[in-house]
Amino acid sequence: MTVHNQRSPASTASTNRPGKRNLLPMADASDSPIERLWTEYSLVFRDFDDLTLARWMAQTLGQLQNRPWRLSHPLLGTYRLAAQVAHDRQIWLKRLANAPPAYPEAPCCRAPLLPLLSRDVLESGLVCQHCTGTGVAFEDLPAEIQSPIKAWAEEYAPVHAVAHWDDRQRKAVADYDRAFENAAKEAERLLTTVGRELLPKFLDHFPVIVWEDQDECLEVRPEDIVL
Ligand SMILES: [Zn+2]
Repeated sequence: MTVHNQRSPASTASTNRPGKRNLLPMADASDSPIERLWTEYSLVFRDFDDLTLARWMAQTLGQLQNRPWRLSHPLLGTYRLAAQVAHDRQIWLKRLANAPPAYPEAPCCRAPLLPLLSRDVLESGLVCQHCTGTGVAFEDLPAEIQSPIKAWAEEYAPVHAVAHWDDRQRKAVADYDRAFENAAKEAERLLTTVGRELLPKFLDHFPVIVWEDQDECLEVRPEDIVL
């Protein structure tokens, strides 16, 4: 959020609605221009045969291990493209390559567990990056993670909600642009806290953790989160 020329909270709020989100950036070609672009990117993996794709993923999982990953990281984004193609083809059920042993099987789709922490963690749990289902329900998180994450998510929710205020709520403050700007700054602070303090706790329990390092509704971009 370093530069905010042309920030337009009204248009932001009208095009971003709260609720369940598709945290995979790619979808079928009938969708938005950015989704069509991601579909185009994914063609490289559609050309892989099943065995090649399985081996590529197994090897890459080994390289992802033992670190937190920004959702915006290009390697992670590339893996997610492969993961969607692999999910469509049920690659992991074919047992063509072994994932590194540290990865447990995700209950949702039986792929290796590659979990995403997002601001929706209380409702969605940790999101599986292979099928976009719930890889780990919030209630199933280790107790020592649950309470700091719950406190964080509950602090984040009203900050995020500023982007979705209705007209009545906007008129209740003297300057909505300033309220939006302040919320964006607060979101940056809270996302930085996740990156610095909360993610290491996950690595005590999971082979890898991915975190959503942005807030598109508040126009907080990955480069605004400085660790
Ligand atoms: Zn899954």
